[in-house]
Amino acid sequence: MSHFNIRCRECGKVLTEVYCAFCEHCRNALLVTEYKERNFRSDGGDGIWGFNWLPVHTPSFKQPGPVVYKSKGLSAYLGLENLYIAFNGYWPEKGAGLETCTFKEFEAAVVLQNAIENDVQGLIVASAGNTARAFAHLSVVSGFPVVIVVPTMCLTEMWYLESSSMVPTFAVGDGDYSDSIDVARRIALTLGYPFEGGVKNIAKRDGLGIVLLEAVSVMGRLPDHYFQAVGSGTGAIGVWEMAERFLLDARFGSALPVLHLAQNLPFAPMMKAWQAGSRDLFSGDLRPELIAEITTRVLSTRYPAYSVKGGVYDALTATDGKMYGVTNQEVFKAMDIFEKEEGIDIVPASGVAVAALRNAVNNRVLRSVDSVLLNITGGGEKRHGREKKTYDVDPRLISKRISEKEIEVLLCDTLKKN
Ligand SMILES: *Cc1c(COP(=O)(O)O)cnc(C)c1O
Repeated sequence: MSHFNIRCRECGKVLTEVYCAFCEHCRNALLVTEYKERNFRSDGGDGIWGFNWLPVHTPSFKQPGPVVYKSKGLSAYLGLENLYIAFNGYWPEKGAGLETCTFKEFEAAVVLQNAIENDVQGLIVASAGNTARAFAHLSVVSGFPVVIVVPTMCLTEMWYLESSSMVPTFAVGDGDYSDSIDVARRIALTLGYPFEGGVKNIAKRDGLGIVLLEAVSVMGRLPDHYFQAVGSGTGAIGVWEMAERFLLDARFGSALPVLHLAQNLPFAPMMKAWQAGSRDLFSGDLRPELIAEITTRVLSTRYPAYSVKGGVYDALTATDGKMYGVTNQEVFKAMDIFEKEEGIDIVPASGVAVAALRNAVNNRVLRSVDSVLLNITGGGEKRHGREKKTYDVDPRLISKRISEKEIEVLLCDTLKKN
C-alpha cells in the first residue's frame, strides 16, 4: 500500500499508485498528490527524507534540505519583524549544504527517487542551467541514467559539480530554452525514456514544496506571505499545494500564505497577464527577443504553468496573490543589499525575489508584524566557486531541426560511450 494517492484537479478522480511524470489525465489540469497522513511529520530520517509528505518510500541516497532562519540584517533593513529566509544553496556556517547551489536539487532528488521506485529506466531533462546541474549531480550520486538538453545560449553561465563526461549532455545551438524542451521531448520519444515531465510531474512539485515543509518546521506555523521568483511557476505551485495540506492538518494556521511572485522585466509574461486580469498569456509578451534582455535565464521559459487548471493563475487566485516585475538594475541592487545584510552571495533569480520584497515593503503591501517567508532559491554560488572544484559543461552540439534518424544515431553513440 502506498502512503499517497493522486487526484485530478479537474474531475476529482483519485488515481492509485500511478507514475505521473507526464501523465495527462484530464487535458490541461494538474494532478495533485494526496497523502494519507493528514498530520505533517518531519521525523522520518535525514535531510529531506525526514518529511512524510513526499512521494517516495525507500530513499536510496542522501539529500540535504533547505536552511530556514529568522533574518536579522535584511529584516532590520526592511523594517520587518518576522522575516524568515529559506536559503537554498551553499553556506557551510549556516549548515546549508546544497553544492549545486539551488532548490532545483530537491526537485531532482524527489523526481529521481520517484522514478527509481517506479522502475523507470532513465530520464531526459531539458534545462536552462540549474536543473541540468542538479540532475547531473544526482544522476552521479544515485547511479540513475539522465540525459540532459540545454540551450547553447545558457552555456556560459553553466557549470557541473562532476565532470560532464559522466552525464550525456546535448546543447541546442539554434534555439532558446523552449526549443530545448521541444528537442528533449523528441529525444525522450526516440529513446523510450519518459520526458521528465515539467510541471506535470507530481514529484517535481512536491520536491520544490520541501521549502515550505522546512519553513513550517522552523516557524511552527504557516507564513502570512511567501516571496519567490518564478519562471515555470512549478516551485510556487508546489508551495501552494503544500500549504493546502497544512490547512487540512489544521495545526499550523487557517489561511493560505499570500503568494508574491516575481519576474524579471521585460520578460515577465505571467506578471503581465495577471496584472491584466487574464488567465491567458499574451503572445506579445512571449517574444524571444525580450529574453535576451533579462539577467535571469533560469526564469526565461515561454511555457510557464500559468493557465493550466491548478497552475499559477489558480494559485494566485486562491491566495489573493500578487505578481511583481523587476528590472535588471533592481535585481543587481537587491543582490548587493542581501549580501551586505545577510553575509552570503545570492544568484540573480533570488535577487528578483528580494527586489519584489523591497517593492512590497515600499508600497506598504505588508504590515511590519506579518510573518514573511522569502525563498532564496539559489545562493552561495560565488562562495562555492572559491572553495570547491567545479567543471565546465562540455556538451555535444545539436540543432533544433535534428531529425529522428539523427537522434537515434547520436544516442547510440553517446550511450555506448557512457
Ligand atoms: C528554476 C529557478 C527559479 C524558478 O522556479 P520555477 O519553478 O521555474 O518557477 C527561481 N530561482 C532559481 C535559482 C531557479 O533555478
